[in-house]
Amino acid sequence: ALTVGVLALQGAYDAHASTLRKLGATPKLIRLPSDLGGIDGLIMPGGESTTMLKFLEQHGFFEVLKDFVHSTPTFGTCAGVILLAKDVTNPTQKSLGALDVTVERNSYGRQIDSTILHAASKLPGDPLEMVFIRAPRITRTGKEVETLANREEHPVLVREGHLLAATFHPELGHDTRVHQLFLDIIAQHKANR
Ligand code: GLN
Repeated sequence: ALTVGVLALQGAYDAHASTLRKLGATPKLIRLPSDLGGIDGLIMPGGESTTMLKFLEQHGFFEVLKDFVHSTPTFGTCAGVILLAKDVTNPTQKSLGALDVTVERNSYGRQIDSTILHAASKLPGDPLEMVFIRAPRITRTGKEVETLANREEHPVLVREGHLLAATFHPELGHDTRVHQLFLDIIAQHKANR
């Protein structure tokens, strides 16, 4: 079985761990740079990106994580996308610079404007359930970035090689297809090495 790390500094990491278990993968909670050893991929959950950054600035975690996400499959959701992105706006913020997108933080309004939508996507099957919570908006995608789902013309699920990013929270719905896609990306990556 695949062992998938879930960054557990703050935010919605427990729900990711249970979705991984449902799909037969083994989750490992990641709290220190040394925890990154022995995992096949990593999920960076939603939460508050500024708070996560504060934790990452301890123990040299930021630099170790930056190297990790450049070479190992990583799936960012919401705040995780903000951390993965090349550029962050509203306001500008330090990030790992791995995924070639620009994200605008808190772009869909305040907490009260958080919403659940169903929309067509490139994943097989029914429309995708998308839970948005103070979500960032992807305002630019680089040319290697593939868009898998949109919300009002803006990408909300994207892939760039070994990186997957969702501005919504697939771990909070019942639909496991986005996590399954990430497990498939990990398996492909392992096979190609
Ligand atoms: N608003 C949060 C941030 O900017 C992200 C929200 C989320 O992850 N649900 O970090």
